[in-house]
Amino acid sequence: MTAVMPTYGRIDLAFERGEGPWLITADGRKYLDFATGIAVNTLGHCHPRLVSALAAQAEKLWHCSNLYEIPEQTRLAERLCAASFADKVFFCNSGAEALEGVIKTARRYHHARGAPERFRIVAFEGAFHGRTLATLAAGGNEKALEGFGPPVEGFVHVPFGNANETRAAIGPETAAILAEPVQMEGGVRAPAGDRFLAELRAIADEFGILLLFDEVQTGIGHTGKLFAHEWSGVRPDVMGLAKGLGGGFPIGAVLATDEACAAMTPGSHGSTFGGNPLAAAAANAVLDVVLEDGFLDRAAETGAYLFERVRAVAARYPGVIESVRGQGLLLGMKCKVPNADLVAALRERRVLTVPAGENVARMLPPLAIAREHVDTACGALAEACAALAP
Ligand code: PLP
Repeated sequence: MTAVMPTYGRIDLAFERGEGPWLITADGRKYLDFATGIAVNTLGHCHPRLVSALAAQAEKLWHCSNLYEIPEQTRLAERLCAASFADKVFFCNSGAEALEGVIKTARRYHHARGAPERFRIVAFEGAFHGRTLATLAAGGNEKALEGFGPPVEGFVHVPFGNANETRAAIGPETAAILAEPVQMEGGVRAPAGDRFLAELRAIADEFGILLLFDEVQTGIGHTGKLFAHEWSGVRPDVMGLAKGLGGGFPIGAVLATDEACAAMTPGSHGSTFGGNPLAAAAANAVLDVVLEDGFLDRAAETGAYLFERVRAVAARYPGVIESVRGQGLLLGMKCKVPNADLVAALRERRVLTVPAGENVARMLPPLAIAREHVDTACGALAEACAALAP
């Protein structure tokens, strides 16, 4: 027993260092990291440009408070806006905190327009939005809510991908619709039907409510575009980001249009650490690389290769992998065997993956992964499947 509160079911494995796509133990064992701290290490481990950006900032200034101007933060906000639908950004430190900000922005929008009764949010079954009290309620997972008192009021859940039920759930108290473009914790579930996000946009416009996207896990290039919703051409009003944004340094963000965040006035929201110079330097360095010409196209190409290779293995072992789903470098293998068994069998072969809902095992490699790393992972996958095949 350690002194750490036992909220995680931890694996008995510790790493001392990371190099690109590799994690290395103190005794020198190398693991290929296709889990990336759950979609966090966008550029792999200790990318030289991130290391030098952080080291340079660490020599100058770590933290100074949002009481003052923070030029690195302003620059990061401007770059995120230039690359997205958004006009303004609020910075925080995690995905849950970003989603809290998204939810607060939606409620405050209607409050400022003289409709404070509009506070309810239509969310989706199978969603995950974080572990704070409001984001747990937004996710609606009964097991995760158990024992933490009455869930925060104001969330209803409808089947993911069902526009008719979404529409039917909207009433005079509805403030917004909240969706992940791909439900990642829920099992790498894309909505059935390509038009779902466009339908949500149309419904939100029809009822004068906001469309909120949670791109905490899908954002920052993992699908081959900077944000997953870009594939649909649909623009949200507000969006939460975190995970990949800092490439391993904790940072979250709420992106919003001017109209959606008009009521987020001084004093309405805040965070001590949010977007401090160190975090902003890390995120700016991530964007320096990810926004370079051709970077995302190369990630998308490698993603297509990964899908092709994994599908070939799945076709050989249908008793282990039922189907392969996802997009870009977010890949889910729906398992016939328990997903934890496939994740463990891959780990025994020094490849790290991560389980998700619906008995799915996820591969979430760094964006700059090379084909040879995909080959290594897929070689291990074939061996793991052979060992697990019924
Ligand atoms: N939203 C989504 C879609 C997530 O996948 C997660 C984390 O897995 C969160 C929110 C919460 O992020 P964090 O763990 O940084 O609070």
